[in-house]
Amino acid sequence: MKVLVINAGSSSLKYQLIETDTEEVLAKGLCERIGLEGSKLTHSPENKDDYVKEQEMPTHTTAVQLVLEALVDPEHGVIEHIDEISAVGHRVLHAGQVYSDSVIVNDDVKKVVKDCFPLGPLHNPANLIGIEACEEAMPGKPQVAVFDTAFGQSMQPKAYMYAIPYKFYEKYGIRKYGFHGTSHKFVSGRTIEFADLDKSSCKVIVCHLGNGASISASIGGKCVDTSMGLTPLEGLIMGTRSGDIDAAVVQFLANNENLSVEEVLNILNKESGVLGISGVSSDFRDLSAAAEDGNERAQVALDAFIYRVAKYIGSYVAAMNGVDAIAFTGGIGENDCATRGKICEYLGYLGVNIDPENNSKRGEEMYISTPDSKVKVMVIPTNEELAIARETLALVK
Ligand code: AMP
Repeated sequence: MKVLVINAGSSSLKYQLIETDTEEVLAKGLCERIGLEGSKLTHSPENKDDYVKEQEMPTHTTAVQLVLEALVDPEHGVIEHIDEISAVGHRVLHAGQVYSDSVIVNDDVKKVVKDCFPLGPLHNPANLIGIEACEEAMPGKPQVAVFDTAFGQSMQPKAYMYAIPYKFYEKYGIRKYGFHGTSHKFVSGRTIEFADLDKSSCKVIVCHLGNGASISASIGGKCVDTSMGLTPLEGLIMGTRSGDIDAAVVQFLANNENLSVEEVLNILNKESGVLGISGVSSDFRDLSAAAEDGNERAQVALDAFIYRVAKYIGSYVAAMNGVDAIAFTGGIGENDCATRGKICEYLGYLGVNIDPENNSKRGEEMYISTPDSKVKVMVIPTNEELAIARETLALVK
């Protein structure tokens, strides 16, 4: 069965066509600058050259139509007819407290996505537009919504409540939701299989370290805590996001720099993190190079990132009263051996023992801990598109 996976952003749309029988990616691509000047589609079919089409895309519906045209194109396509696509799986940011699993899209689901616009103001409107564009281009084709917040729904109130007046939770649903849920679910599930852990009781920590970074704790595959909050701003230090911060900083900056709350939040989301501390880059490759050249702020940024991850791991071990396995994933978690190694240097108290030779490899599924390490530590590459295709298949087959 062929599943089209769609990740719609406000002015972009990423897609993959996945053959679920073999889990092979038949084609993937990206529509950029939708609704702006200079929009283009980059289509990468399997075993064929990339194809770039520069064409006006005033709406997401046009973008979806161009994607479908590329998929059936006699020269660049990978299927003969759109009917070969059995279903569409959409990445959707926020489902509030309504869905703890993926669902087949109907009017009720679309209403929930819409009701959650205030909770995901940048992503949810784009996600809904993506769904409606596919409905228009492929009427009657089953569509599945896979929510980034679903995995976090198994958290208990003690983990998700913010200590602010309860009425704000009741009135607006202000609480910790957690994000990257599709990745955390996929990687924790794969960790359990890979390490042959007890499915019902194993304690797993997943460190999703990329430009956006988050960490989750799960028992028996169910999330008990995760670092992102009401929005993806909370938790770890990220490429450009501050992560945890004293909320009073917002007022201080607003007053002293004459900024609005929105402007301060923009700084905390887009100009902070390792970029903010270092002034060099949000990219770990640039930061490592700068630190090696003696740039002290780049070194502080790296050290602060590593320290924050180590602190979260410690707090989740305490929350679960132990841990069986720790998995690294995301661009940094999968590839940055030095950062992984330094995080693990903090974990000696857990009996973590890292094999330096294994930890010098990148990008593959593997143990980086020694066989006698008390906690298994591994790299498990994430694959959110495949996870979305699997969830879609499970609901429509
Ligand atoms: P992601 O958001 O998951 O794509 O991750 C992006 C981050 O991964 C960036 O900070 C990259 O610098 C980092 N990254 C990707 N490849 C490598 C690598 N080979 N070595 C170090 N960092 C890497």
